[in-house]
Amino acid sequence: MRHPLIAGNWKMYNNVSETMRFFDDFIKLVENLEGVEIAIFPPFTSLWEAAKKTAGTKIKIGAQNVHWEEKGAFTGEISPNMLKEIPCEYVIIGHSERRQHFAESDETVNKKVRAVLKHGIKPVICVGENLKQREENLTLKVVLPQVRKALADVELLSGEEIVFAYEPIWAIGTGKVATPEDAQEVIKSIRKEIETLYNKNIAENIRILYGGSVKPDNIKALMQERDIDGVLVGGASVDPQSFYKICAYK
Ligand code: PEP
Repeated sequence: MRHPLIAGNWKMYNNVSETMRFFDDFIKLVENLEGVEIAIFPPFTSLWEAAKKTAGTKIKIGAQNVHWEEKGAFTGEISPNMLKEIPCEYVIIGHSERRQHFAESDETVNKKVRAVLKHGIKPVICVGENLKQREENLTLKVVLPQVRKALADVELLSGEEIVFAYEPIWAIGTGKVATPEDAQEVIKSIRKEIETLYNKNIAENIRILYGGSVKPDNIKALMQERDIDGVLVGGASVDPQSFYKICAYK
């Protein structure tokens, strides 16, 4: 039985003082919420404060990016062991904004996935097609190779150590959400692909999220689909009230 994961990607929002205010409100709101795992991905500068605020609560912390090397002359980069020390339980890898603006490729995604697994950090690996590809019916031809390349030479024990997020690029920050049926169809195909690469058990254990304009009013329908195990939320996760409403979708 896969445990639902509601993940909030703050992108480049919420500085340290805003982070403190967010958690002052949010921790009280989610205190009695059962049956969902909640993870928040603040910018690097707010990670430490977020970890301090959430220590002893059920809220998990993750980073939005990572480098694959342990240490070295890589100005501006952050290594997996630096994240582990925070401690981060998760890290987003291959978000479409990083693929689009910062030359993230399937190869760097794969290096990062392999590096963080060595430290016991769970990667949330993002895949998704753009609008042109969707209109040309190329969704699976784009997404499934992204999945395969992300997992090249990745050994999995149970499948619980990684998470995928299917995020159609045309739905991110646009207000255009994929229909639950469309999201389900792609996510089911991703699971089938993982079964081909590993086995049925691992495929059934891996959590696959949907991301793209998730809001309090569309989460419920998405979560009713069999293969959608949670959501990756951008814009609507920055404010404690709206993110709480998403977490309390049941
Ligand atoms: C995201 O940043 O991963 C995302 C899905 O953004 P939004 O919810 O704003 O579309």
